[in-house]
Amino acid sequence: MTDYLPYKQEITTTCQKLVEKGYLMATGGNVSVRIPGKTAFAITPSDYDYLQMTAEDVCVLDFDLNVIAGKLKPSVESSMHAAIYQARPDVNAVIHTHQVYASALTLIKASIPALFDEQARFLGRSVEIIPYAPSGTGLLKNTIAKHVRDHNNAYMMQNHGALIFGTDMQRAIHNVEILEKCSLAYLLALTTERKISKIPLAVREIAFSKLRKDQKTVESSAA
Ligand SMILES: [Zn+2]
Repeated sequence: MTDYLPYKQEITTTCQKLVEKGYLMATGGNVSVRIPGKTAFAITPSDYDYLQMTAEDVCVLDFDLNVIAGKLKPSVESSMHAAIYQARPDVNAVIHTHQVYASALTLIKASIPALFDEQARFLGRSVEIIPYAPSGTGLLKNTIAKHVRDHNNAYMMQNHGALIFGTDMQRAIHNVEILEKCSLAYLLALTTERKISKIPLAVREIAFSKLRKDQKTVESSAA
């Protein structure tokens, strides 16, 4: 199964980076990457220490969750990742974290409006809250598949964590960082109880159209 080695390695190096930066903690969260040209993706195993993980431990699944490669049990959120790849042909990497500041915003169900230029350019028009559903259930999978059709690249899962996409893994990692910066700044601003200013609507729309252009380039190359 050496065919999949580059994708498996990308998962392990991404997890190590995200642990170092504090976005992944203990065994929480999961990371996946689409296998180009196949209806398949590589994903982290379930309940497994990221710092112990080697490429051999990473699972490769098809969109019906049949195991193509890997001996360990795949992430309990595998069905959520499969649903995202099917709903969003522009998405080639998915990161789910329990990152602290975005998770805090889910507790007060505070979706993030367009606050910063780079947020609108890379995460989309807003970062919405996806209503609560228990981990690993069909309900969660269906709720997420419905929400991601708005072409944003970051979402917050109520009382749970964050969900971040990228056209590639590097972009997804940067988007995790942009989301956490926006979440912390927004939380701090909310504590002042003063009016929160947003970027002008026209600027938001121009930034979002650039994001859509990137997405359409990936969509057409995948078709
Ligand atoms: Zn989770």
